[in-house]
Amino acid sequence: MKLLQASVCLISLVLVLPSIFAASSSEDFDFFYFVQQWPGSYCDTQKSCCYPTSGKPAADFGIHGLWPNYKDGTYPSNCDDTKPFDSSTISDLVSSMKRNWPTLACPSGSGEAFWEHEWEKHGTCSQSVINQHEYFQTSLGLKQKTNLLGALTKAGINPDGNSYSLESIRGSIKGSTGFTPWIECNRDGSGNSQLYQVYLCVDRSASGLIECPVFPHGKCGAQIEFPSF
Ligand code: 5GP
Ligand code: 5GP
Repeated sequence: MKLLQASVCLISLVLVLPSIFAASSSEDFDFFYFVQQWPGSYCDTQKSCCYPTSGKPAADFGIHGLWPNYKDGTYPSNCDDTKPFDSSTISDLVSSMKRNWPTLACPSGSGEAFWEHEWEKHGTCSQSVINQHEYFQTSLGLKQKTNLLGALTKAGINPDGNSYSLESIRGSIKGSTGFTPWIECNRDGSGNSQLYQVYLCVDRSASGLIECPVFPHGKCGAQIEFPSF
C-alpha cells in the first residue's frame, strides 16, 4: 500500500512539475519587437530633434529598442529596479552603440540616457533570457543583420523626400529579411505621413527573427514619404 501511495505521489509530481515551470516561463514574455527608427523622420517633425554630442549620426536607421511583448499585444515594463543600467558592463559596445543606437532627443546627449531608458523599461523584462551585455549586443547584431536601408535602396526606395507605396516598403523588407515588418508612420512639419519606425519580431530566446505573432496598432497612408536625413 505504502509503495502504491509513493508511486502515485511520484507520478503526480512528474506530471505537475513541468506545467509549473512552463507557466512561470511563458508568463514573463512571448517574443520581442526589434524597433528601428529613421532619423530623418524623428527630426523633421514640428518638435524637431537634437544631434548627439558626438555629432550628426549617419543617414541610416538607428536602433530604438528591443521590447519584450506578450502575444495578446500587451507588454511588461520596468521589471527590475535592482539591475540599473551600468555602462561599465557594455564598455566594449559603446563605440558601436554611438553609431548604431544614436539618441536624437533634446537636449543633446551621449546616448547613455536613451540606452538607460531602454534597458530599464524593456531590457529588465528580458533577463530570464539575456543579461544586460547580451541585451545590447543582441540588438546591435540584429541591426546589422536586418540592414533595412540596404533592403530599401536595393528596391529603389531611397531617403530622397519622395513618396513610396507602403506595400513596396513592406515587400522590400520582407524580400530581404524573410519576415513581414510592421511600419509605423509619423508626420513631418507639414503634416505628411512618413516612414518613422520599422518593427520586426524576434523569438523569445533572442536567437533570430520570426513572423510577428501580433502587430501593434496604428495606420500609415497607402503612400508615405521617405525623408532625407
Ligand atoms: P508610443 O505611445 O509612442 O507608440 O510608444 C511609447 C513607448 O511605449 C515606446 O517607445 C515603447 O517604449 C512603448 N511601447 C509602445 N508600444 C509598444 C508595444 O507594442 N510593445 C512594447 N513592448 N512596448 C511598446
Ligand atoms: P520609449 O518611447 O522607448 O518608451 O521611450 C523613448 C524615450 O527615450 C523617451 O523618453 C525619449 O525622450 C528618449 N529618447 C532619447 N533619444 C531618443 C531617440 O532618438 N528616439 C526616441 N524615440 N526616443 C529617444
